[in-house]
Amino acid sequence: MAGTGVFAEIFDEEVYKYYADGEWRKSTSGKSVSIINPTTRKTQFKVQACTQEEVNKVMEAAKVAQKAWARTPLWKRAELLHKAAAILKEHKAPIAECLIKEIAKPAKDAVTEVVRSGDLVSYTAEEGVRILGEGKLLVSDSFPGNERNKYCLSSKVPLGVVLAIPPFNYPVNLAVSKIAPALIAGNALVLKPPTQGAVAALHMMHCFHLAGFPKGLISCVTGKGSEIGDFLTMHPGVNCISFTGGDTGIAISKKAGMIPLQMELGGKDACIVLEDADLDLVAANIVKGGFSYSGQRCTAVKVVLIMDSVADEVVEKVKSKVAKLTVGPPEDDCDITPVVTESSANFIEGLVMDAKEKGATFCQEYRREGNLIWPLLLDHVRPDMRIAWEEPFGPVLPVIRILSVEEGIHHCNASNFGLQGCVFTRDINKAIMVSDAMESGTIQINSAPARGPDHFPFQGLKDSGIGSQGITNSINMMVKVKSTVINLPAPSYTMG
Ligand code: NAP
Repeated sequence: MAGTGVFAEIFDEEVYKYYADGEWRKSTSGKSVSIINPTTRKTQFKVQACTQEEVNKVMEAAKVAQKAWARTPLWKRAELLHKAAAILKEHKAPIAECLIKEIAKPAKDAVTEVVRSGDLVSYTAEEGVRILGEGKLLVSDSFPGNERNKYCLSSKVPLGVVLAIPPFNYPVNLAVSKIAPALIAGNALVLKPPTQGAVAALHMMHCFHLAGFPKGLISCVTGKGSEIGDFLTMHPGVNCISFTGGDTGIAISKKAGMIPLQMELGGKDACIVLEDADLDLVAANIVKGGFSYSGQRCTAVKVVLIMDSVADEVVEKVKSKVAKLTVGPPEDDCDITPVVTESSANFIEGLVMDAKEKGATFCQEYRREGNLIWPLLLDHVRPDMRIAWEEPFGPVLPVIRILSVEEGIHHCNASNFGLQGCVFTRDINKAIMVSDAMESGTIQINSAPARGPDHFPFQGLKDSGIGSQGITNSINMMVKVKSTVINLPAPSYTMG
């Protein structure tokens, strides 16, 4: 159970502690932040509201610990990560329980998130050993005017202290996707978890503690992003920020100093359906892509752009599948569960009402109880409706009928976002042409957008992000290249 057994030391019977210098501590602020259960809409957990002074101490400790960690052999860093991964998987049940209570993640998906996170940590350890174990040797005579008298040895060195800020929807998986690459590459790591999801993240952090990482190398400060976020992201002790979330990331990018940034932000993933597509496959993917975890996924299908000639048939197929989705509490492993906060539910409702006023066709009756919104497909959506462009992050999916593939591509590319997209057609040549024309970081052919498998590159264009994630890219993002040049007194040609 959460907060008991091996996890008892992270909890003081009322408020969950924060993690600094290898210890679980109460904040001197004497204040806490409540985490509201999206299903009951009552306080489920409380976490510490950390102070700026506590953040300063965490940063100082991280800087000291990082120096020693960078001298720790790569294989030993990997060994500790493998240990943390095993502990994480062993304790999947209490961590999943937190995900169910804090973010209303359906029970099975909650367990999957923890197991996938353990696998991600292990894979990162393996990948790090390979890619950080290799450097480059360059010779000078390839550049005009040079003899072969300089040898350049380049290798990858850590950046220092990495600040990781994940969002609520995958508070464990999107935390470890930052923690593991940072650590294998020899960095220290400070985690600021999302408020909804913070307790799951604290349990995950304890698994790293139990694995035996050095004191101060990893820490976790809690508090509202709106209160301690700026202090953290503008802290002079931070050498890299890896952030996943919404528009907040754009604001952080403008405020952060001259440090590498990895930003994975919002999306309006378009699903373009051509006339020759397998329409059963399309319908299955629209439902899975649009409604899994109640649409609260960065890579959810967020707008369907469908050729008018096949639209009626697809809409009918989608409607009959939507009718079979179960709606209710996450404990019952329902397909559609309450959205994360009341303000999210209000925002989604605002988009739905705007579409209603402007004449969209409701394929189901709009229904809401508290934070629970029943799945809704909106047909005949037009570009003057907000839902055609904005990210609902809820179980509400707009369908725009198009008369040409160019119209679909135009709508996709007119968006500020460019995370993922997908195209359905049986013609691989057309699929490649459409994929090339869509201005998004990844295009899936004949499948809904998806972040995984976690070693694939994952990146957003435009307002959807800076840089690329995926295990290898994240490790490479969290290092700098360092060179040593050997200057020979005379040119030397091998086998010469
Ligand atoms: P969010 O509101 O932007 O919050 C993300 C994180 O930022 C949370 O940990 C939040 O903490 C923190 N934060 C808030 N204000 C901050 C500040 N001023 N400085 C620093 N950190 C601050 O996003 P969300 O609602 O959790 O997640 C939903 C969004 O994430 C959607 O737009 C979705 O598309 C996007 N997302 C993108 C990806 C991707 O990989 N591209 C993946 C998943 C989700 P608090 O919780 O304490 O406010």
